[in-house]
This record gives sequence, C-alpha cells and structure tokens, in this order.
Amino acid sequence: MTSNATSIVCAGCGFVVAPAEPYPFRCPNAIPGDDVDHVLVRELDPAHVGFPQGDEANPYVRYRELFHAYHFGLGHGMTDGGFVDLVESLDKAVAAVDGRSFLSTPFLRSDELSERLRFSSEGGVWVKDETGNVAGSHKARHLMGVMLLLLVAEQAGLAPDGERPLAIASCGNAALAAAVVARAADRSLRVFVPTWADPDIRARLDALGADVVVCRRTEGASGDPPYLALRTALEEGAIPFTVQGPDNGMAIEGGETIGYEMVSELARTDVGLDRLVVQVGGGALASSCIRAFEDAALLEARVKLPRIHAVQTLGRRTDGRSHLPGRHRGGPDIRARPPLGVHVAVGGGAPQHRHRHHRRRDLRLGGGRGRDAGHRRIAGVGLGRDRRRGRGHGPRHLGDPGRSHGGGRDGRPPGAGAGGRGGTRRAGGGAVHREQAPERTRRNATVRSFLGRDILSLKDFEREEFFHVFEVADHLAPHARDRRNGDLLREKTLVTAFYQPSTRTRLATEGAMHRLGGHVCGFSDAKMTRAGDFYQESIKDTVHMLEFYGDIIAMRHFQQGAPAEAARWASVPVINCGDGWGEHPTQVLTDLYTIWHEKGTLDGLTVLCVGDMRMRTMHSILYAMSQFDMEALIVCPPEMSLLPEFKSELDGRSVSYREVESVDKCIAEADVIYMEPVVQADYTKGRDERGGEVATTPEAYRVTRQLLRDKAKSDSIVLHSLPRMDELPVDVDDTHHARYWIEAYNGVVMRMAL
Ligand SMILES: [Zn+2]
Repeated sequence: MTSNATSIVCAGCGFVVAPAEPYPFRCPNAIPGDDVDHVLVRELDPAHVGFPQGDEANPYVRYRELFHAYHFGLGHGMTDGGFVDLVESLDKAVAAVDGRSFLSTPFLRSDELSERLRFSSEGGVWVKDETGNVAGSHKARHLMGVMLLLLVAEQAGLAPDGERPLAIASCGNAALAAAVVARAADRSLRVFVPTWADPDIRARLDALGADVVVCRRTEGASGDPPYLALRTALEEGAIPFTVQGPDNGMAIEGGETIGYEMVSELARTDVGLDRLVVQVGGGALASSCIRAFEDAALLEARVKLPRIHAVQTLGRRTDGRSHLPGRHRGGPDIRARPPLGVHVAVGGGAPQHRHRHHRRRDLRLGGGRGRDAGHRRIAGVGLGRDRRRGRGHGPRHLGDPGRSHGGGRDGRPPGAGAGGRGGTRRAGGGAVHREQAPERTRRNATVRSFLGRDILSLKDFEREEFFHVFEVADHLAPHARDRRNGDLLREKTLVTAFYQPSTRTRLATEGAMHRLGGHVCGFSDAKMTRAGDFYQESIKDTVHMLEFYGDIIAMRHFQQGAPAEAARWASVPVINCGDGWGEHPTQVLTDLYTIWHEKGTLDGLTVLCVGDMRMRTMHSILYAMSQFDMEALIVCPPEMSLLPEFKSELDGRSVSYREVESVDKCIAEADVIYMEPVVQADYTKGRDERGGEVATTPEAYRVTRQLLRDKAKSDSIVLHSLPRMDELPVDVDDTHHARYWIEAYNGVVMRMAL
C-alpha cells in the first residue's frame, strides 16, 4: 500500500510517476533537444496533510509529513518513529563528517541592511543565512532530501540492484555538499569536474572520499565535459546525486525545508513578507523557495505570499546552460564572463495556490531555450499568470481572506512594482516607502538607472548595461513569443517621430509598445511633416509639441545628431531610431542580443562587418565592441571605408579591428557575419525614390551560399538588419547560418525592453 499524500508528476509533460517507483528522479519522456522542461515535482494532497506545526530542531524531522520519502516509507511498512530514527541517525553521521548537523538556519532582520536601504523601523529586510548550513551552503539541504529517499527505498527493499554509485557534475558547493552527505551515508560518490576545478576543492573532495574524475573536452564534442560524463554515468546506472532539477526533481524537495522554515518563522512572529529575493545559480534554491511558499499556501499555513524576485550575478545567467540539451550545447566558455554585480532578473507576482496547476501548465509554453527549468519557472510566476488573467494578484493571508493587504496592488501590472512607484503600504507590520523598494536600490547600485534616460548612442553604454537590457528583454520575451499583449505600459504613449521611411524599426517599436499595452501615435508619412516643407520647423519647436503628445519619443531623422538635439529640448526620454549616418542603437542592441542568445557570449568572438562603414549600424556596433572582448574584420569598398576621425575614436576606445579587402579572405575567421548593403539609398535624404538601374554588389562584398559552405566556420551566423539588395542572396535564407529572421523577431523583444 502506498499513501496518496504525495505524488510525483512531471511539470513539463504531466507524466505521473508510478507510486512504487523508488527512484522518481528524471522524467522518462525527457529527450535531448526537447524544448519541454521535464522536471519531476512532488505534489501534496491537502486532504491528507497539513502544514506541520512541530518545533523539532531538525528540519527533515519537523517537516517530514511534507516529504515524499516519508509517505513512501509509511506506505512500505515504515513507522513514523522509524523515519525519525532514520533522519536522526543520518544527521548524526553528517555531523561526524562535517562538524555541523541540519538545524533551522537563522532568519532575522538585518538592521544594517534595512538602514542602508532606508526602511522604516517597522519594516525592513530579513536575511535567511544558509552559510552555517552543513557543508557551508544550501546545497546539502537538497541532497539530504535525496539521500533520505534513497535510504527509505532501500529499507523498503525496493532497490533491487543493490547499491548504485552516486554521481554529480560540479566543482563547487554542490560537490562538497554531495561528498559530505554521501560520506555520512557511507555511499560511494563520483564527482565529475572540469580541468579548471579549484585545486582546494578537489583536495577537500578527495579528503571526503569522493571519486573525483577530471573531464577534458574531446575534440569535436560539444557540451560541458563534466555534464556529459555525468550523463554517461547515469545511463550506466549511477544515481543522480545532483541539485539540478531536470536530472533529479527530488533535489528540490530537500531544499524546500529552507522555505518551510521561513514560513514557520513568519507565522510565529506574525511578520508579513512582501518580497522574497532569491539568488539564482542553477535555479534549485529559487524553485525550492517558491514551492515551499506554494505548499504552505496550499496547506493553508498562516502565511502571506511574497512577490518573488530571482536575482543573479550579472553575466552568470548562462550558468547551467551547457548542462542543457538543445541549441546552446557546447557554447563558449561561460567562465569568460566575469560576475559584474547583482541584477534583478524578474519582478514577479505572488504565486497563489489556486492557480498552481494552471501555472504549471503554462510553464510548458515557455520557450525552451538555454535555461534551466528552475529559472524559467520563476519567470512564469510573474508574467504568465498576471498576463493571462489580465490583472495582478496582491499577496494576502491565506486562510484569512478577509484581511486585505497590498492596497493598490490589484490591477497593477506585473513588474510595475519594480519601478518603485506608488505610495506606501503595509509591509512587515509597518510602512515601507516604495520608492526605496529593495530591489531597485540594489539594481541602481550596480547598473545605472534607465528610468527617464535617453537612448541616443551606444558610445555611452557600459558593459553591464548591455547585459541589463538583455535580461529585461528575456523577461519580456514571453509577450512577443506568446503573441499576447500585456498592460505594463498601459498608461504610456509613445510618439514615433520618423522623418525617414522605415518598415522594421518603426513597426517593431510600435509593435513592442502595443505588446506592453501602451499607445502609439506618429506621423502617417514622413513627408507629411513640417520639417521638410515651407515652414522648415525646427527640432526644438517640434519636440516641444511632441512631448505633450506622449511619454517617450522614438525618433528617426535624416540629420545626424537630430535625436540628441531633440533630447536636449524634450522633457521626456528620446530613443534614437537611426540618425542619418550617425548611429542606430536599437538595431545594434537587437543584433548584440541575437548574437548573445545564439552564441551564448559576446566575448571572444570575431565579427566580420561587411558593407558601408559609414552606416549608422556599423558605427553603433563598433562602439559597442569596446565593451567586449570582440574583434572586428572590416570589409567594404574603398569609398565606404571607416572615416579617419572614426578610426581614431575606435583606437581611443581600444576597439580591435582589421581591414580586409574581401569577404572570402577572412570569412573563415568569423563567428558572426554582420552585413549591410553597399548599394543603397542615400540616408541623408528624406526619401530616395529608386530611379533607373541599380548597381550590383561587387563579389568582394557578397556573402553567398557557396562561400558559406566552402569557407565559413560551420557555426558562424549571418545577421542582416534588412532590407537587403543582392549582397545576401535569398538562397542563404535556408542555410543554418541565417539568423536574420530571428534577428527581426528579437527586434520587437528588444524594443519592448527599451
Ligand atoms: Zn516530462
């Protein structure tokens, strides 16, 4: 007999694990390259369990009724006392190995942090400190949960093949935690590490008796070598002793004890948590915390559901990306991107238990690209539900629906809170000034605020700001992907002041505004303005009008510097959508975002720029390259080469570039082929009507299917902001190099972000 208090289901495909399965770790439907997040999750049946009210010191004893291992044990003849004995004896062994046993970790108000973030004495910031945990991090919590299930299954006689070795791919905290718990249970553990693993950690792993296997990259193989080795070991029968949800969904359960402790402490002290900020590495911790609060709500614990913010060290977003199947396999070395500070990735709404199943279903719709499940799941919390339902849900005391909290929150679009507007409201039993909401202060500490800022040139963009914009774009991408309009910018109007014709930039910008629920007004025809006619109306006069018509101006102009001139006079932000020969920052941000997504990094890349080097996109991308470890190969007709003053500016910014006479001489070196026509309209005119014959592009500046096949790197990508002439023949479209349609889609996402 098995208890039906818990069940294990795949959050991705809905697969239900047989109740007698002793190793419910990985969804059997998970196949490499699949875009579905197959993560097995433990569901609780509130008809059978309530939120534990005990106060035992060991969290696995205190919250045992929420563990699948517990109910699995009871279903196979184990007694409650037997389970407690099992936990306590394992914990004693852990203490003998590590010097620490599993105890509730501190969850306290940080007066210093609260003060620095200017909270009132009644509100503030509480910190859950996991550094004193077994093995020094939260990782051991996850693995203790997995180990308990293994031991219960063995005691139940359901582990027929005897002791299978444990395996993990890690060279940090997770490996240390795994080694401690495995040692305590007297189990053998193989740890797959990369060649660059920290020697100190390797020595500690050796001392703990782990079998450390150094994994080298084999020529031609793609993917993270330790992870590939782990996958092979698992196929040969090893047990995934990892904290990666897709490989072992049960790892999340053990980590949930951290969230349960917070729930208990909040209930005990009657503190309401407004927001929960969790740092994300692989996503297991954040998933655990979210699920813990969801469980508590489902079981009607006296807890207010916080908004959850997953934060991440900037530039570390792709941690775990190489652990994933699919297109990002074998991406570039993620260590090349240094951590640059903390960045708030997601401003989500509060999960609400009634919608939990809807939301889980929604998760499958999330585009399956390059992230671990935990991470994407979090994004689902914020956007998926609020957008679908068309309104926000304020946190409330579950089991006490009469009490109203978060006044003014309802109807607030997702993420709006992150901007810190709106007066004060109850938090932690006192008033918190929303202007000083913690995540905003934190962001400002590392990345300059974009609030009210003009986007005129990429010259003044710093490295962190590129990543910041990319993160925001990722966050908003589901709007574009799912073709659903949100209401984030419901109260805002964009004025498009396009003094030149444009298909993509204007429509992408307007489309982005519509996706976010904003309004758009603009000229219906570039020729129908007063700028070029009898009045020759000045930019200053024009923007003094436009600023009353909307909240932001997107300008394209035939004169270089016109948007900057507009920004001088406008009281609202101005976005440069292309100015004469000047710059085209929104296009190039789109291009860099595309490259970042496709190649996994911007550092270490060689970019072949073909076309007219006087073009605004070329200016912007070369400025941007100063912030990354990128090299440019410049190919252009002599009359279209880099102007001397621009060259000296690039030198001053230490941009690495080389001029080459033709594409075929250097295409073999390029990771990215970035194209513009060399035969084109005069961008300084309002409109250049095509008359007579148009010249053809000389062979030296064309990128053809044959050239790509014969000379280019097989993983090189071709970008073109379009429209094209004959420099990029249409038969390149169906090669695996072409990325310009993705680039066009990303154009909408990027403009949403801006
Ligand atoms: Zn599945």
